[in-house]
Amino acid sequence: MSVVLTVQCAKCSREFGDRLAIAVCPECNGALAVVPASPPARGQALKQLFDSRVTAHSLRATAYEASGVWRFRELVLPGAEADVVSFPEGNTPLVASDAVARYAGVAALRLKHEGLNPTGSFKDRGMTVAITQARRVKATAVACASTGNTSASLAAYASRAGIPSLVLVPHGKVAPGKLAQTIAYGARVLLVRGDFDDCMRLVREASAKLGVYLANSLNPFRIEGQKTIIFEMLQQCAWNAPDWIAVPAGNLGNTSAFGKALVEAREFGLIDRLPRLISVQAAGAAPFAAAFDEGFVRRHRVKAETIASAIRIGDPASWDRAVAAIRETDGVVLAVGDDAILAAKRSIDAAGVGCEPASAASVAGVRELVARGIVDSSHRVVAVLTGHLLKDPMPQETGRGVGGPDPIDISPDLSEIERVIGSLGDGTLPTVPTVS
Ligand SMILES: *Cc1c(COP(=O)(O)O)cnc(C)c1O
Ligand SMILES: [Zn+2]
Repeated sequence: MSVVLTVQCAKCSREFGDRLAIAVCPECNGALAVVPASPPARGQALKQLFDSRVTAHSLRATAYEASGVWRFRELVLPGAEADVVSFPEGNTPLVASDAVARYAGVAALRLKHEGLNPTGSFKDRGMTVAITQARRVKATAVACASTGNTSASLAAYASRAGIPSLVLVPHGKVAPGKLAQTIAYGARVLLVRGDFDDCMRLVREASAKLGVYLANSLNPFRIEGQKTIIFEMLQQCAWNAPDWIAVPAGNLGNTSAFGKALVEAREFGLIDRLPRLISVQAAGAAPFAAAFDEGFVRRHRVKAETIASAIRIGDPASWDRAVAAIRETDGVVLAVGDDAILAAKRSIDAAGVGCEPASAASVAGVRELVARGIVDSSHRVVAVLTGHLLKDPMPQETGRGVGGPDPIDISPDLSEIERVIGSLGDGTLPTVPTVS
């Protein structure tokens, strides 16, 4: 099958073929977007095509057949099968939790848990496509700047493809588990004495001057893969779109991908109405929320600081296309404080679902919008959890301060256990403190 895709520069509008070996516009350095190919079917027939692949899914399927990204191949990267690098990824659950719904203040809340991807974050959805594309353009090396999850994902997929990878991370500001993952998967790690925004600037320069293929979400093929978070969620909802979709926002790749996915889903007849996007930033890293409050009249840049390291970004790369996504979906952008993020995380963790701190921003954002009267308690809401709890558990050696009940030290004696059980009062297992 010959591929009929073009990529277009958002800045100068020039178009290029999809075998372009660099990830930004070669003429003006602007961001590129994939112009969607016309799918072989629309509406009901397209839903049936995607649904038939779910029912045909077997344990013996190839990664390509089993992937929750490549299931939507016609809307992602058609005709790439020969080069696909897949784990597989995707197929993440849409978790219903009454406890978290109550916490957020809505009757129907579901959590799309992207932390259950192969390397523990949604980044795998974009990376399978970016590394497949790296193979198609015969890239000799791939690189990214990262707050930790992109680097872990890049390292894994590049190694599976046999392509050397280089990652730039801010020195001392990446969660240890993410760094360990990245190194173990075989990437060459550069610890940059600076912040994420310095890493991003540097890797863009390096990819332009040194010919390394850029795998950040500025890469349009990452966005095409991340669209499938939305396609898969809609499929799980039997193609009945929720009222709102909430997502944590850092570099704005996901916000951009979600907007593009929703517009295409409507254009190709998968849904007839656009849900509204909620893009949630941490208060200490909220340039996009500040700009939203002013009606997006100008771009903001800040020095970022928040406990949620995955969204500690002050100068987001996918700014323009994220603005378009918010406008097209009549979306809302807001900032929530670190305390609100940690309280939401405790609620998600205590419900047995669990996520890393940045992920909890989505639920914290929903709760805040319910309080402001923008989201109604009767609305159907999906909140995306972007990363796994183990990515950034913040434990001390003793296990204290994680957020759940503190562990208790005992000597190896049954009587000690008896004493603890006795102190639980009614003899039931300890309950986690409820967050109000
Ligand atoms: C990358 C990441 C984000 C931020 O997503 P953007 O697309 O950069 O806005 C949020 N949460 C987690 C866990 C991430 O890894
Ligand atoms: Zn251009």
